[in-house]
Amino acid sequence: MQVLVIALASFFGILYLWVIRSFDIYEKEPFFRLLLTAITGGSLAIIISLILYEFVTVRQTFTDAIIKVGLIEESSKFLALLLLYKLIRKDFDEIVDGIIYITAISLGFSIIENIKYASGAHYSIYILTVRSVISVLGHISFSGYIGIAFYIHKKIRKNYAGILLAICLASLAHGLYDGVLFQKELTAYFKLVFWGLLFFQVWLLKTVLGFSDFRRTLSKSVFHETDEKIFCYCCRCNKTFISNEYRFWKIKAGFCDSCNNFTVDAGNLINLIKYSRPVLNAKRYVKRLSGTMKNIALDKADKILFNYNRGFMSADINDLSDWLNESNKQDKIRMLNKPVVGFLLRNLGLKYIMKKPDC
Ligand SMILES: [Zn+2]
Repeated sequence: MQVLVIALASFFGILYLWVIRSFDIYEKEPFFRLLLTAITGGSLAIIISLILYEFVTVRQTFTDAIIKVGLIEESSKFLALLLLYKLIRKDFDEIVDGIIYITAISLGFSIIENIKYASGAHYSIYILTVRSVISVLGHISFSGYIGIAFYIHKKIRKNYAGILLAICLASLAHGLYDGVLFQKELTAYFKLVFWGLLFFQVWLLKTVLGFSDFRRTLSKSVFHETDEKIFCYCCRCNKTFISNEYRFWKIKAGFCDSCNNFTVDAGNLINLIKYSRPVLNAKRYVKRLSGTMKNIALDKADKILFNYNRGFMSADINDLSDWLNESNKQDKIRMLNKPVVGFLLRNLGLKYIMKKPDC
């Protein structure tokens, strides 16, 4: 039975690691290195936390969940990242990497913890299975803040206040999760806390992608021509046409045979925005363009045209590229100016990045 639980925990661990890595769209971390980080970092964090637990007694209450369990386990993960830093330094080159590596450590931590529970044999296979699936997912949604603050500390400028804030936020998230489980009268809120934290972690991953230096500037040369044909509508020439298909990342596009405008349908416009303006909710943005039969311009200079009725966007690729770059900058400024999340993101250290001239 223990072997089964260990196999299950490992399977879900690798699956989750794969999913997290899929968010790292510009410069993917080597999978093997992430796996190694999960194993060594997770073990280190477990050892550190076991040592720290020697000095405190934890009661099963909400406050202890935050100030003891949360603080001890999240500080342990941070220390593990700090100790491992020399090994990953070479690949640690954009903010999203901070989240990805601390998440790998959290994943290792949680899996080893589950294996420890399984070998204790006090729990039913049902509980252990649920733990393998749910608690691992919970664990990886606590620590992203630490990764952001630590990246800025190492690569931009000293950021002790940011790291302190990050550990507090991670401890709070961790404590909230454990707290609703510890206190029976709060268990009804578990789903809310679980999905809330997970949603926020995914949002955090997407948001920091907007700050990456590895995003490629759009131009005809980043696209490669395939052997396929693609049906297009040019909003400028107001006509349908069949173009050779051009691909880049998940974007499939065509070029108008009359005006040479770059043309994508609504689905590929979503992919284009996901790549170029990751801070923005691409689906919601494209959905909001509805309601007109005629062309609307997405930019102030009326160069980027969208026809909702046809479901296509057309623009000169260089104009489009300039607009996407500028919009990404504006998205980031808007995000950092938001009341609560903006305040937190700024003080985790993102305010130092926005001061760099090319951001
Ligand atoms: Zn055209």
